[in-house]
Amino acid sequence: MKRYSAFAVAREAFRHHAGWERAWRNPEPKKSYDVIIIGAGGHGLATAFWLGKNHGITNVAVIERGWLGGGNTGRNTTIIRSNYLQDPSAAIYEKSRSLYETMSQDVNYNIMFSPRGVMMLAQTHHEVRGYLRTEHANNLQGVATTFIGPEKVKELCPIINIDGPRYPVLGALWQPRGGTARHDAVAWGYARACSDMGMDIIQQCEVTAVRQEGGQVTGVETTKGEIGCNKLGIVVAGHSGVLAEMAGFRLPLESVALQALVSEPIKPCMDVVVMANTVHGYMSQSDKGEMVIGGGTDGYNNYTQRGSFHHIEETVRALIETFPMISRLKMLRQWGGIVDVTGDRSPIIGKTPLGNCFINCGWGTGGFKAIPGSGWATAEMIAKGEPGPLAAEFGMDRFKEGRFIDESVAAGVAH
Ligand SMILES: Cc1cc2nc3c(=O)[nH]c(=O)nc-3n(C[C@H](O)[C@H](O)[C@H](O)COP(=O)(O)OP(=O)(O)OC[C@H]3O[C@@H](n4cnc5c(N)ncnc54)[C@H](O)[C@@H]3O)c2cc1C
Repeated sequence: MKRYSAFAVAREAFRHHAGWERAWRNPEPKKSYDVIIIGAGGHGLATAFWLGKNHGITNVAVIERGWLGGGNTGRNTTIIRSNYLQDPSAAIYEKSRSLYETMSQDVNYNIMFSPRGVMMLAQTHHEVRGYLRTEHANNLQGVATTFIGPEKVKELCPIINIDGPRYPVLGALWQPRGGTARHDAVAWGYARACSDMGMDIIQQCEVTAVRQEGGQVTGVETTKGEIGCNKLGIVVAGHSGVLAEMAGFRLPLESVALQALVSEPIKPCMDVVVMANTVHGYMSQSDKGEMVIGGGTDGYNNYTQRGSFHHIEETVRALIETFPMISRLKMLRQWGGIVDVTGDRSPIIGKTPLGNCFINCGWGTGGFKAIPGSGWATAEMIAKGEPGPLAAEFGMDRFKEGRFIDESVAAGVAH
């Protein structure tokens, strides 16, 4: 595959852009593969990418029932940060954040990583205490965050009203190297790199059953026929419970809708990401100028990828208190995704009761930021048959054993 470069852009400009190749192949499935990954979202594609890059395993198919990146990976608000409280979380999220720094070079695709800084506002004294604790934990973990006062918040983000009537801003946990990236580009970049390594990305192909023999996985049944495999990775976010049922086990998680919305584009007015978790809202400005807004999850389970209207109203109402200027904006569009939420708000990366079947799920409202690191850890587990150091604590046995990785402060609402 030809490399993308400034030179290639200049060359194609002179050729009326007639020389670009397809970014990835669109193959028919082979009879069998060494590894099948179900789900061509960011986590599935990153897993395939690192299987090839780190472990030399390229006889891999990524099977997607819709189009690649059409799940939560293409629906999120793209916040990237690693300011989590518990050590295993900080390790995997910081690994991921650091991989984002070089991803454009690693996959030869501009993913528009923008480390513009992320602040999580403290709007109650309880939050101040919570974030000071996280700041200390982050310092011990080697994650660069600081707790800043309200004046610094105002300096970094002049459109904030720090003297709100209900919830004045008392400070914020600030991560200067947090930020955003272009979500579709993350999926497209990995897909192109995987295809280049000879892997098959099979779209419009739904997995309908998991085949097994003697307690070991042997393949999958799909809408394009049966496909055999030696190892299977289930990486389907909001549909993890459905796939687990096909494989014969249950998962300790719930699937709920999470929504986001964007405003009409306006001139640049905010060059940081702000999360206001007390009032359930967060906002950043996209490169096109739209204000990208999100809130909390719906309070009931569903698979409809829409979400309820009252949640939008609640989110916008909450944000207007902190950003009064958005009351004058028109909202352009709204969408939803189905997120898979565990009881301790931490993901599951582990083996399953079915032999050679592995699972990666439970990223809930905050898995976009984890894509490269999660793929790294899941690829290592699939290649070696056992979770490596990054994934070791995230097995689902922790729910039986009471070893929770409690991230309800960092991930209950926050993304
Ligand atoms: C509105 C919203 C805002 C968010 N904001 C943020 C944020 O700011 N920062 C952040 O870090 N995270 C955020 N998230 C969470 C983040 O988007 C997810 O955690 C992450 O994208 C999950 O990626 P994934 O690859 O696991 O899942 P997905 O991208 O959903 O991929 C799973 C794929 O599996 C496919 N699939 C399902 N069933 C089958 C089947 N039977 N056969 C074949 N394929 C199947 C689906 O079609 C889908 O494409 C947000 C989520 C939403 C919905």
